Amino acid sequence: MSVAWDDDPVVAAWPGLPRIEGAETADVCVVGLGGSGLAAVAELVDRGLSVVGLDAGRVGAGAAGRNGGFLLAGPSAFLHTAVLRWGVSAVELYRATLAELDRLADMLGNDVIRRTGSIRLAGLPGEPVTDTDTADRDADLADCMRLAAVLRENGFAAEDYQSELGRGIFLPDDAAMNPARRALGMASLLTARATLYEYSPAVRIEPGLVHTDAGSVSAPVILVAIDGKLELALPELRGRVRTARLQMLGTRPVAPRRLPCPVYCRWGYDYAQQDAHGRLFVGGGRDRFADSEWTTATEPTQPVQDYIEEVARRMAGTDVTVSTRWGASVAYTDDGRPLCAEVAPGVVAFGAYNGTGNLVGPLAARSAVGLAVDGAPIPDYFCN
Ligand SMILES: Cc1cc2nc3c(=O)[nH]c(=O)nc-3n(C[C@H](O)[C@H](O)[C@H](O)COP(=O)(O)OP(=O)(O)OC[C@H]3O[C@@H](n4cnc5c(N)ncnc54)[C@H](O)[C@@H]3O)c2cc1C
Repeated sequence: MSVAWDDDPVVAAWPGLPRIEGAETADVCVVGLGGSGLAAVAELVDRGLSVVGLDAGRVGAGAAGRNGGFLLAGPSAFLHTAVLRWGVSAVELYRATLAELDRLADMLGNDVIRRTGSIRLAGLPGEPVTDTDTADRDADLADCMRLAAVLRENGFAAEDYQSELGRGIFLPDDAAMNPARRALGMASLLTARATLYEYSPAVRIEPGLVHTDAGSVSAPVILVAIDGKLELALPELRGRVRTARLQMLGTRPVAPRRLPCPVYCRWGYDYAQQDAHGRLFVGGGRDRFADSEWTTATEPTQPVQDYIEEVARRMAGTDVTVSTRWGASVAYTDDGRPLCAEVAPGVVAFGAYNGTGNLVGPLAARSAVGLAVDGAPIPDYFCN
């Protein structure tokens, strides 16, 4: 499956990491080296602990390297909705993800983490097609305004937005990235400080021991950092987390460049960002294809891709030529709070970010390290 983010020269030149062979020991074994697992590795080596990290494939070749590249503060639910569900801890989560964004930018630099802000648009760009679309757009706009009010009440920035794209709000504190570049950038910084392996899937995880086909890692602490398909690695989590496929596409350059920053619209379900070359990276339709996308498969499908292509045209304001299509797995929980929990003695799992884990994932990693190493309580914004 070809993924447009992998065209980045730094990503394309990734030299790769060895596979594990034989028995290793460490203070901590981290299973899964996406953005969240790598954040855990960074936190652990900063504390002077020895770490062995394992990934089933290439670093960041799961959702962490295949997503929309939006770095949005807060939980997957809009803040005003999350406050109604989880109270003040949703605001704490929002603040903590802003701190994660600063941390990521300090680590990787502002050419990788672009402080662009983001736009939430009411409806798709262009005119509504039906009366239902018009009514939905009006409701969406009213919801944008409610969100902006709650953000401002809590001291976060939100501005009214209007352009040829449509109406909505601008969130100046958000950012954008090439997610594959982010994952491999983090891994490059960590390879000298931790022992990291690729193409080394954990086939069995038990307290104190992780088995792979060709080796094993003995460690008193095991952190399992997997979003989609977490329940395959840890069957005890079946019923608590559920895997879904999300799909995207990449286009050839579209001129003139139209999207100033990441744009998400129609209640946040459809989204796109445009890179410096004018290429669009577009996803969406989760609400329209909910049933078919509860799957651990990752291959793109025609109906979803047709829908996303229409979103791409609306974002571009013109026809687009699609160059790549892909899907990846994420996981959901029933109440929308991500999971961060000890699942067996010394084994802490974190994942199920309900569709937005680029900043919440590293935050969960820090909480998991706090729980496993210090015995610190898990914040209320995670379920445990
Ligand atoms: C199409 C799409 C668009 C998205 N857009 C956004 C967005 O714009 N903004 C946002 O915040 N979030 C977005 N998300 C969600 C986000 O990508 C994820 O929540 C986040 O990347 C999860 O990162 P992770 O490191 O926790 O997990 P993963 O990316 O799932 O990484 C887990 C790693 O574990 C490895 N692994 C799995 N099983 C094993 C095993 N048995 N042994 C060893 N290794 C294993 C995998 O190979 C993988 O590399 C999107 C997701 C998708 C799919």
